[in-house]
Order: sequence, then structure tokens, then C-alpha cells
Amino acid sequence: MVRTSRSWAMLHAKCPRCRRGNMFEGATYRFGSNKINLNCPHCQMIFEIEPGYFYAAMYISYAMNVAEGGILWAATFLITQNNDSPWLYLSTILGGLFLLAPLNFRYSRVILLYWLSPKVHYHPELDIEMPVDGNKFKWFQ
Ligand SMILES: [Zn+2]
Repeated sequence: MVRTSRSWAMLHAKCPRCRRGNMFEGATYRFGSNKINLNCPHCQMIFEIEPGYFYAAMYISYAMNVAEGGILWAATFLITQNNDSPWLYLSTILGGLFLLAPLNFRYSRVILLYWLSPKVHYHPELDIEMPVDGNKFKWFQ
């Protein structure tokens, strides 16, 4: 049995329990909603473990935005060597963060479920080709 690697599953926003089912509907960059599925389509894990669980992802998203803003500021300075115009930095940072918002939304939730949720574990027995019957594995949740 081939185990799906954790880094590949995180990069592709797969379920943290089976690493097979998609956490989100559709692609990252698309017009319309960027919704997380209620259940894993493969193993039926409920992603929102308790009501309001993803509020914690806001803190992760905030930290990601601060880091990305710092990187954008440094890149703007290194490329332009401009020390005079705050508007250049403001427009670059805000524009860059606007473009990165769908990625931050998605990966803040992925990081929350993979790294900061101690009760969510990988189950290699669920990492199989066929979708798992949800009723059979309810006790995992
Ligand atoms: Zn799953």
C-alpha cells in the first residue's frame, strides 16, 4: 500500500485523515465561492470539527498576511531601491495581498487541520483508491 505524503496532501488541500478527498470545492482561483466541503468526499470526515472551528484559521491567515506583506515590502525595495514613495509600497503590498487572498484562505485552513488540530490524525487504512463507506468509519470522528 502506497502512503500519500503529508506535504503532497497539504499542497493539494486533501483531507488530513485519508489524504485522498478534496477539502475544497473547485480550484483556488475561480470566480464564485471558494467553499470548504462539509465532509470529505472520500472518508466522510467532517472538516469543521465543531461550530466556529475555522475562526482559528483567521489567526493563521493574519500571520501569513504579515509575512507576505514583509516579503512584498522587501522585494519592492530590492527591485526599485525607492525610499521616497509610500504609495508604491502601499499599492504593491495591498495588491499582492489581494491576489494572495484565495491562497491564504485555503492554506490557513489546511495548516489548522494538519498542524494545529491534535485530534486529527492520518489513517493509512483510509488512504485507498475506493471511497470509504461513511458509516463504517464514523467512530474515527
Ligand atoms: Zn478524508
